[in-house]
Amino acid sequence: MRRGRAADGGGDPVTAARRWAGFDVGGQSVKAVLAGDNGRPVASARRPTGLDTSLDELAAALGDALKEMSAGARVDGVGIGMAGVMGPDGILKGSPNLPRLVGTAIETELGDRLGCPVSVDNDANCAALAEGWVGAAAGASDFLLVTLGSGVGSGLVIGGELYHGTTGYACELGHTVLVKDGRRCGCGNRGCLEAYVSESAARSLLEDAPAELRRVAGRLVSERGFGYAQALFALADEGDSRAREIAAAMIDALGAGLASAVNLLDVTLVVIGGGIAPAVFDRIEQLEEAIDRSLFARPVSSLTIAAARCGSDAGAIGAARAAMLAAEAVR
Ligand SMILES: [Zn+2]
Repeated sequence: MRRGRAADGGGDPVTAARRWAGFDVGGQSVKAVLAGDNGRPVASARRPTGLDTSLDELAAALGDALKEMSAGARVDGVGIGMAGVMGPDGILKGSPNLPRLVGTAIETELGDRLGCPVSVDNDANCAALAEGWVGAAAGASDFLLVTLGSGVGSGLVIGGELYHGTTGYACELGHTVLVKDGRRCGCGNRGCLEAYVSESAARSLLEDAPAELRRVAGRLVSERGFGYAQALFALADEGDSRAREIAAAMIDALGAGLASAVNLLDVTLVVIGGGIAPAVFDRIEQLEEAIDRSLFARPVSSLTIAAARCGSDAGAIGAARAAMLAAEAVR
């Protein structure tokens, strides 16, 4: 994180309750929360973003939201969660939503513009921080968080701390290989878990499905605002045999992927969130059977598979937590 003094808009820095701003920077908007030490949001805000958003435009949007939420009061630190990877040198290595920011020393640059310490982490890591702070993993020292959305995000907490790995790329469960030479993944490799269970996987699997299923699913997407995975699971529930096969294969793939993760990491708590999670929990018995088939030396009953609780605020809440942890680490 960038070290510096807190943004001081007044108040007593010693006795005033601390306030942490968390921003979830997505491809279309920034979600922001202001939270106290207990993780409870006391204010929230939202600002638009776009693929061509520049560093200065992002800083202006964040500063504006910060001003709205804090109403002039002191903010002790700013955390930012975004898709992509932060290298150990503080340079943003990849950013699917804000490509103009790649190559930027983003913590330093935003810290200078906002005038307070800034801490940046991957959005799935922030979701894990949120669940460990005030969500389904509160109080747990070791757990794996998996988000099932447009891709598969994951964050690993070991001994109460996020595990980033040697170069910052740790815990990319979505890009572990499930099928050698399998389906093409958005990352360019083949056979990744994300190519079998995610919104993008559902879309791709539907392209290979019979025309009638494609047509009905497409209508749910275009006319009723469903995601492709949601449409697929809904049609499976309605009894479409091909949709049921595809949905079952998605759950089986997820089970195999989670079992491999547990075999590697020996965590006993797995928290699942993201837009596809509700459909997964509707099929929890099938998921547990799939995990059980590939789990080494223990039954699936030794695991807790829990639904994430922080919902769509997870990224922003976890970013606020990242700001708090960064401030405490430099004391
Ligand atoms: Zn991949």
